[in-house]
Amino acid sequence: MDKKNNLESILEFNKEFVKNKEYEKYNTTKTPDRKMVVVSCMDTRLTELLPQAMSIKNGDAKIIKNAGGVIIHPFGSAMRSILVSIYEFDVKEVYVVAHDECGMCNLNTSNTIQKMLDRGIDEATINTLYNSGIDVSQWLHGFSCIEESLKRSVSIVRNHPLLPKGIHVHGLIINPVTGKLRVFENGND
Ligand SMILES: [Zn+2]
Repeated sequence: MDKKNNLESILEFNKEFVKNKEYEKYNTTKTPDRKMVVVSCMDTRLTELLPQAMSIKNGDAKIIKNAGGVIIHPFGSAMRSILVSIYEFDVKEVYVVAHDECGMCNLNTSNTIQKMLDRGIDEATINTLYNSGIDVSQWLHGFSCIEESLKRSVSIVRNHPLLPKGIHVHGLIINPVTGKLRVFENGND
């Protein structure tokens, strides 16, 4: 990296971006034209690959990202975003897109906790959290099998008490190198 830090480079680039009206080709509305929401992993390989491989352009879809591309809790932030997309932005289809070689698959959470301790987090904090019912290791845990995790995410959405009728929920798996998609759960069936 050069001497400039990321923030400085971003701000410098941004000035030109706005000045040259490069935003014009992205102009669209906040309601997704293709009435779809995508939940996918934050994996850096998917940043551009996933929308390109699914033919999604600006304005087409709502995109929700997190570590693993999972819906963990029926009342967590991913599910909340899905429901808002449906009720406020006329979304009719939910795509949960997992991927091969996900970093959240078999994540060694004891290692992660060790890294926290190495970087100055007090062990007492981990213990206090544990005694208050937050098992950090459990909380960080991803999944041992992408198919199982995907099945669970799709099931949480499909069976949600606040999900209206007529919403199609699909589960796909993308190859993070080639972008090839496999259908794991077809919500049109
Ligand atoms: Zn991932």
